Amino acid sequence: MKLTVLGKYGPFPHPGGACSGYLLECGRRRLLLDLGSGTLSRLLRLVPALHIDAVLISHLHSDHMADLLILRYALQQYNARGQDVPMPLAVIAPDTPEEEYRLLTGSGVYDITAARDKLRARIGDISISLHRMTHPVPTYAFSIEHGGRRMFYTGDTGWRDDLPALCAGADLLLADACFSEADRIGGVAAHLTAAEAGRIAKEAAVKKLVCTHLWGGGCDEVQLLEEARWQFPDAVVAEEMQSYLI
Ligand SMILES: [Zn+2]
Ligand SMILES: [Zn+2]
Repeated sequence: MKLTVLGKYGPFPHPGGACSGYLLECGRRRLLLDLGSGTLSRLLRLVPALHIDAVLISHLHSDHMADLLILRYALQQYNARGQDVPMPLAVIAPDTPEEEYRLLTGSGVYDITAARDKLRARIGDISISLHRMTHPVPTYAFSIEHGGRRMFYTGDTGWRDDLPALCAGADLLLADACFSEADRIGGVAAHLTAAEAGRIAKEAAVKKLVCTHLWGGGCDEVQLLEEARWQFPDAVVAEEMQSYLI
């Protein structure tokens, strides 16, 4: 599998950057993991014909799904011009909050499966399982297996005791690592710290940790990486438009 970071910021982008979105290539198939603002532009550079097999949306915060609204227009207009695009496109996403969910339905562009805890799905030879996480809105982590390899994407989540077991032995852990210890917002556990991401990676004995969802207002990436490496030396901070082989 090959994971390419389209955007790594939240809940708004750093200047010139994009919010959360990742392209996962599994053999000939392509999945999108979240599609936040700014990511469609980058996806079009890599996959101009938009031949995507499915989109997995962790939760309906705009920094994870805003460009799904713009992708509707691209698919509709390519389709109207006779171009071969996937329509309806398979999407797995939570069906709440309702206001956001309603924006995705009704256009006929997406074939949406409502996310739920422990849901299993197959896209060709790719196996996907969902796990409910902890965030102000319903949110899900994805475990994705293909060709004997596995990656785990946490989406946005605060600390959960079940995370090390859920991603145990994964070849790559793509983890919310929104805060350094100094930046942690007291009492609000909507995101992981880099140190917590490192702890999960160590306890789960994953092969590689990629820290993502950096604060768009500017964060000290050197400090963040140092804290992730306290417990897991093989941590890296996600780089936009960089690919990671799994
Ligand atoms: Zn977010
Ligand atoms: Zn969120």
